[in-house]
Amino acid sequence: MVRSVTTEHFYCDACDSKYETEKQATECENKPVEDLPKWAVVGKEVTGFFYCHFCRVGHTVGKIVRVYGPTPFDDQFEHTQVQIPRRNDLHVYYLWVIVPCGSCKRNLEFRMALPQLKPNKRF
Ligand SMILES: [Zn+2]
Ligand SMILES: [Zn+2]
Repeated sequence: MVRSVTTEHFYCDACDSKYETEKQATECENKPVEDLPKWAVVGKEVTGFFYCHFCRVGHTVGKIVRVYGPTPFDDQFEHTQVQIPRRNDLHVYYLWVIVPCGSCKRNLEFRMALPQLKPNKRF
């Protein structure tokens, strides 16, 4: 017998994640969305701590190349890279930043959480 099974899915309105149950989707939807500051757009220069593992040198200035979110908190990434408490009940944004390393001439790419970055105010 061939059966057709239609599975219903539920989507969080904030992040568009798909869930099996309405309860899970509602729980996700109830989480506040992290504030996205005006400077957090593609092309903006930001400061942060960017470490070149090839040269073992830290850099401070980079440029945003991708803004992703709102999205559910990424447990593993936050745990290993961000380590800022009390973000797990938020929809968060992740930013990808390109940092040119002056020593090895590589364009290093970093995935960052918003609190790890600041706008570059050298103007
Ligand atoms: Zn959500
Ligand atoms: Zn380097």
